[in-house]
Amino acid sequence: MQRRDFLKILGMGAAASLVPSVLKADDRDENKTTPLEVPVLMYHAVDRKDSIYSRTPERFRQDLECLYEKGYKLSTIEELVSGSFSAEKPVVITFDDARGSQFRLEEEGIITHNCAVGIMEDFCGSHPDFGKTAMFYISFSANAAFGQRNSVEYKLNWLLDNGYEIGNHTMRHTNMSRCSIQEFRDTITECQDKLEDYIGERISLVKSFCFPYCAVPSDENRWEFLRSYFTSATIGGGRSYCNDDLFRIPRYGIVSSTRIERIAGL
Ligand SMILES: [Zn+2]
Repeated sequence: MQRRDFLKILGMGAAASLVPSVLKADDRDENKTTPLEVPVLMYHAVDRKDSIYSRTPERFRQDLECLYEKGYKLSTIEELVSGSFSAEKPVVITFDDARGSQFRLEEEGIITHNCAVGIMEDFCGSHPDFGKTAMFYISFSANAAFGQRNSVEYKLNWLLDNGYEIGNHTMRHTNMSRCSIQEFRDTITECQDKLEDYIGERISLVKSFCFPYCAVPSDENRWEFLRSYFTSATIGGGRSYCNDDLFRIPRYGIVSSTRIERIAGL
């Protein structure tokens, strides 16, 4: 298949490249390994709802199996930003919105087996050479992060304790291209403050931002503010692809109908 056809299937523009040129940034250590292609996958819900943003638990598990069989290893946004990977063929998995189906606990505190974290724990536990990590971009726009009000602190700290990453997805899932400058600042800082309430000094680990609705601001003051807080930011499905910009890291949007093998087969 031609690369251009491939991009169409993925909903990316013909001008987009499958090679995130963030890896070519000037500040990279040239002695470090920089693989040519690093897919960054964007998930939302892992459930059976009839929604384009829902990936069923079975399909999510199949996605992990497919990536594993193709030789990919799970990597972090931090590795992507540094340009230094422990794996030869890295892939980064991200989850947006802190939806309930991403991380759910049973009454007795056990992780539900078919939520995203439960599936990852199970699959990665039985395939230790795959690695085990994912980025969770947290927004507090819903009732509570991950849906269970009394367990937010536990879940956020559990993620950090168990090799996962946490990022800022704004307090109210704000459209960053349309809001006022005050709202822009507030929705970022309030999310960061709320996260700090839960994870304390480990807030220093929250270094990546994710644009709600893939909407990026145009004015320079906003970018400056964003860069004062974070080292990177991700967007969705290639809508705003920009070369050599760690604040516009493109992701493949994985929706209900996505054929992951089209990505893993690169
Ligand atoms: Zn979102």
